[in-house]
Amino acid sequence: MKTLVNPTAEQIKNTPEAFLQSINDSIFIYVDGQNRSVTRGLVTLLHGNEPSGIRALHRWLKLGVQPLYNLICFIPSVPAALLEPMFKNRVYPGQRDMNRCFLPPFYDAPGQLAEDILEKISEYQPECILDIHNTSGHSPDFGVVTFENATHEALVSLFSQRLVVTDLRLGSLMETSTRRCPVVTIECGGVKDLSSGEIAWQGLLRYLNDEDVMSLKHGHIMDIYRHPVRLELKENTTLAYSRSYVLGTDLTVPDSLEHLNFDLADTGTLIGWLGGRSVDHYLVVNDASGQNVFERYFTVKGNQLLTAQPLKLFMITNRPDIALSDCLLYAAEEREHTVLET
Ligand SMILES: [Zn+2]
Repeated sequence: MKTLVNPTAEQIKNTPEAFLQSINDSIFIYVDGQNRSVTRGLVTLLHGNEPSGIRALHRWLKLGVQPLYNLICFIPSVPAALLEPMFKNRVYPGQRDMNRCFLPPFYDAPGQLAEDILEKISEYQPECILDIHNTSGHSPDFGVVTFENATHEALVSLFSQRLVVTDLRLGSLMETSTRRCPVVTIECGGVKDLSSGEIAWQGLLRYLNDEDVMSLKHGHIMDIYRHPVRLELKENTTLAYSRSYVLGTDLTVPDSLEHLNFDLADTGTLIGWLGGRSVDHYLVVNDASGQNVFERYFTVKGNQLLTAQPLKLFMITNRPDIALSDCLLYAAEEREHTVLET
């Protein structure tokens, strides 16, 4: 991991692409604050195909201004992002997903990078950390945290009014969150959604300039969703995206499914068309305890895969490679949804 300390605006290349090419490695950036008694942390581009956070950070670095407090930044997946076409590869081919590597053992290259990041964090002791992502499918903005508390809610509220509280443990950075150093994931919206860039930018400005980012402002409303599960496809599943069933596939997902992200998917919403194999062979819905709870969330009618109860769906991906290697979507029960008003 390279290091850049107090870079001047002139040292930063003019575009995010040229900036990343000039670095050509994962990088740690430190910037002195106007007040040096506090440090805040920022991570972005853990996934090489999710550029809103690095675009916003680059734009801010080009301003050449000082943040209110010290800032430590980590930009890990630069090598994956630089592969042509740029910002298409979530992970470096053949390596583990960088945001699944924050739990020991740190045995491989992404694991060691995760360990380096965690060591730097404990050295600099930031008061909080944001991890900025995009979703691969079309989606509004939201935040994800691993337990519910007011600090997490306040940090997410800098960017979004939607919050998912997950008890799934995958080895992501936000799982290292503690009361002493809260860590939240920010999903700025879809990679292709025009609003994502502005959401990342406005939220970053608040994060770098606001005196207090750890308490919820009065009059804030937050939609909270709890206990999401993942709809995963087992190895050797054949998957297609189309307007109707594609012959020979286990699962064909409607092209338009990504537009359901954060809409209410009522009972009986179509998730896809199925081939002849029994779904136990290739679909699995694991809850936090690792139990397959497929039947609680989904049902099969004829050749259709449908929702079994009112659900909030999110992170529906329109990329078959991501659906197969990570998951097709997350789902939370609508009855677990509450609105928080401060
Ligand atoms: Zn991501």
